[in-house]
Amino acid sequence: MAALRGGIIGCGFFARNHIEAWRRIPEVEITAACDLDIERARLFAPRAYTAAQEMLERESLDFVDIATRVETHLRLVQMAVTRKIPVICQKPIAPDWATAVEIVEIAESAGVRLMIHENWRWQPWYRAADKLIRQGDIGTPMAYGFRTRERDGIGAFPYPNQPYFRTLQRLLIDEALVHHIDTARFLFGELETVYAQAKHRNSHVLGEDQALLVLTHQSGVQGWIDGHRFLNTEPRGPAMGEAFFDGDGACLEILSTGDIVIGDRLAWKNTVTAGYRGDSVRATQAHFISCLLEGSPFESGGREYLRTFAAVEAAYRSIVERRQIAVSEIYCG
Ligand code: NAD
Repeated sequence: MAALRGGIIGCGFFARNHIEAWRRIPEVEITAACDLDIERARLFAPRAYTAAQEMLERESLDFVDIATRVETHLRLVQMAVTRKIPVICQKPIAPDWATAVEIVEIAESAGVRLMIHENWRWQPWYRAADKLIRQGDIGTPMAYGFRTRERDGIGAFPYPNQPYFRTLQRLLIDEALVHHIDTARFLFGELETVYAQAKHRNSHVLGEDQALLVLTHQSGVQGWIDGHRFLNTEPRGPAMGEAFFDGDGACLEILSTGDIVIGDRLAWKNTVTAGYRGDSVRATQAHFISCLLEGSPFESGGREYLRTFAAVEAAYRSIVERRQIAVSEIYCG
C-alpha cells in the first residue's frame, strides 16, 4: 500500500513530537511542511513552505496536520477543508466557543473529516485503567481525582518552552486541564456540571495558573481536577501527576511514573519509554490514520470534541459567575 501523504503546518515546539511520531507510523509519509520560519519547515519535510495556502495548492496531500497555536486554527482548517483534505488539528480547538462551533461546521459542511489532536486519553496508563475499570477491578466507579503538577510556572520567565503562555488570558484550564477533562469523559462518560475556582499567582503571567475543578457526570460519578505548575511530582514521571479512581470495591491509583496500583497490588507496570508521555502523540496520530483508512469514527472528532470544549467553557463561566454550571448551558448537542 502506498503511504498516505501528509503535510504539517506549524513546526514549532510541540510539533517536534508530531514529526517524531509520524516517522514511526509506517502508513504515513510527511512529504511537505510549512512554517512562517522556513528553516523550521526544512527540518520536517523535503518540501518546505512558509505559506500554508501555497503548500496546499502545490502538494497532493491525503491529510493535513495543523500544529500551530489556537488563533490560526479557523483559517487553516478552512483552507484545508475547502480543498477536501482531512485534518488533524491541535487543541485548544479555538480561542472561544463561537469559533470552535464555526470550525466544526465548516468541516462538516465541506464533508471533510476533522479530528482534534487530544493525546492525553491515549496515554497507555489511562487505556490500561479503562480496561481494568471495565472488567470490574474497582467495582462500580463512584469518584475520581487528578492531581497535576509541573514546576515550570515559577519565576520571572515562566513556561520557558512555551513563553506565549505568559500572555494568554485563559491559561491553565485551556492549555492543560482540558486534557484531564477529556480523559475524565473518556473514562466516565459525558459531563453534567462543572464548578471551578482559580487563582492567578505568578504576576509574570496574565491568566489563571492554579485551578480546582469539581465535575459531575451523567453516570453519577463525581470527581475533581487540581492543577498548578509550581511543583514537580515525586517521583518525577511521564504522567505529570497522579490520578485516583474510586469504585465501590477498590481504589485504582495511577502514579506519576505511569504505574497503576489497586490497593497494594501492582495492577499494571509502565514500560513505555519512547515518545511523549507514554507515546501518546504516536497513539493519537495512529488512531487518526487508522480511522481514515477504515472510515471509522474518531474518538475526538470535531463535533465530539465540542463536548470537551464546552466543559472548558463551563469552567471559565463558573469562575466568573461563582456558581456550578450545567454543561448543557453551553452545548446541548
Ligand atoms: P509554537 O509557537 O512553539 O509553534 C507554533 C509554530 O507555528 C511556530 O513555529 C510558528 O512559526 C508556526 N506558525 C504560526 N502561524 C503559522 C501559519 N499561519 N502557517 C505556518 N506556520 C505557522 O507553539 P507550540 O507550543 O508548539 O504549540 C502549538 C499548539 O500545540 C498549541 O495549540 C498548544 O496548545 C499545543 N500543545 C499541545 C500539547 C499536548 O500535549 N497536546 C502540548 C504542548 C502544546
